[in-house]
Amino acid sequence: MLGLMQDYQLTVQTILDHAALNHGEREMVTRSIEGPIRRYNYRDLRTRALRVAKALQKEGVVLGDRVATMAWNTDRHVETWYGVMGLGAICHTINPRLFVEQLVYIINHAEDKILFVDLTFVPLIEAIATKLPTIQKYIILTSDSYMPQTTLPNAVAYETWLAGTDADFEWARFDENTAAGLCYTSGTTGNPKGVLYSHRSNVLHSLMCSQNDVIGAKSVDNVLPIVPMFHANAWAITFAIPANGASMIMPGAGMDGKSIYELLDSEKVNVSAAVPTVWLGLLQYLTENDLKLPYLDRVLIGGAAVPRMMIESFENTYDVEVIHGWGMTEMSPIGTTGKLKYATEHLQGEDRIKLKLRQGRPPYLVEMKIVDDEGTELPRDGETSGHLLVRGPAISSGYYKHDENILDEDGWFNTGDIANIDELGYMQITDRDKDVIKSGGEWISSIEIENTAVGCEGVAEAAVIGVAHPKWTERPLLIIVRKPGAEVSAEEVLAYLEGKIAKWWMPEAIEFVDEIPHTATGKIQKMELRKKFGGYQFKEG
Ligand code: AMP
Repeated sequence: MLGLMQDYQLTVQTILDHAALNHGEREMVTRSIEGPIRRYNYRDLRTRALRVAKALQKEGVVLGDRVATMAWNTDRHVETWYGVMGLGAICHTINPRLFVEQLVYIINHAEDKILFVDLTFVPLIEAIATKLPTIQKYIILTSDSYMPQTTLPNAVAYETWLAGTDADFEWARFDENTAAGLCYTSGTTGNPKGVLYSHRSNVLHSLMCSQNDVIGAKSVDNVLPIVPMFHANAWAITFAIPANGASMIMPGAGMDGKSIYELLDSEKVNVSAAVPTVWLGLLQYLTENDLKLPYLDRVLIGGAAVPRMMIESFENTYDVEVIHGWGMTEMSPIGTTGKLKYATEHLQGEDRIKLKLRQGRPPYLVEMKIVDDEGTELPRDGETSGHLLVRGPAISSGYYKHDENILDEDGWFNTGDIANIDELGYMQITDRDKDVIKSGGEWISSIEIENTAVGCEGVAEAAVIGVAHPKWTERPLLIIVRKPGAEVSAEEVLAYLEGKIAKWWMPEAIEFVDEIPHTATGKIQKMELRKKFGGYQFKEG
């Protein structure tokens, strides 16, 4: 027997309708690409998003069409995002940091019809426009007075384009399983793959992220999502924040410590989210200028492991709670957060830090387990490491236009991460499966060595790779970028690591380099490092 409840479709435009009606006065504040701070409220946001949808319909965009954006986090980007999705079209958010060949590949693979582009990226797109035959129109996210001279065919200023249309429009009606967003994820090999979010998965994920132990935004909060909308669905923040009636403060192109500090301060931001690199910039700016963070209450940090010094600095010096998060584009993206819980709330000092260094536990609607190479489930003892598998309604079941089956017969997705899970459900990533170091039959966590090493005075960045060893199969090689002007030596780094990591994890050697290569989402390209140090010989002794 079926239940007798309404067949209410979980589409993302319901979020905006709710925000405009019940939290219409809450603000949307943007550091514009042109410079000044712009502000309006959720009622205005909804009106402008409806105009985008109507204007797109006039352009001939229909259900299922792909419409691309290459833009920073701004009000205009959010209007476009909801406008596209509310029409039943698919918002393809492009990461401008991808290599040029990858950009050409994904735009053609997605067969994008229209491209909304920020002023910053006009030159980048001009250089490849002749290779983008599917794009019919370029809409530059600015007004006429800032419109640049451009070689882009059929280009128009966003405000001029929007001025021709009113908001007398009703959101399109379609099934909740309709695709809403497309985000390509770039592995270390092969072409990027398209993760295709549905309306239903986005709504469910935004509810998951609304759980108190995840982002848990409230209607009195002011939230600054620094994580870009083109990286993994903006960690669901552009859905979860209006859904809860919190104000949204958008950083535009200003990701440096000074710009972030200014917004945190002037907009009294109490919740924010970004990758560790952004927070390093902020922390450095605070130290150099002897500043405090009186309004900031908590920060969600993920995308890469959070270094110990970052947790210590935020929590001890600035009284800001660190929520360590882990996830991936395929998971919408949040998979775990490291909030303390009933059984861990009392932890203090070293025990507390150790727990916070773990990537955390899943919210309701994410299932996870670890398995060995044969697929047998491993114990949750906080030590045994295995392949991390996940399952849930906001996790990919396949890639866009790829036949490959990515789930096992029980519906589990292999994340490609190696992790352990403790008795209380807190998970810790030790490596990517491609990066594991196997020494004497045991796994060494490169992430843990890296994270410890960056705590050493003078070390700016650290990466660990496995290098062939005659006796132990592989041993860790630690590669370091020094801070500008620092002269830290290999001996000093080794002395610092002593006692902080297991003895047999101690790097066999240390090499200093000027730069460590990164991917478009800021991850260390270990493959490149392995190429660079291919054939590396450890000194005898
Ligand atoms: P992306 O799809 O670009 O967000 O990348 C997802 C991958 O980033 C994950 O599979 C992890 O390997 C890595 N990652 C994300 N968050 C963390 C974290 N907190 N600690 C360690 N690795 C992370």
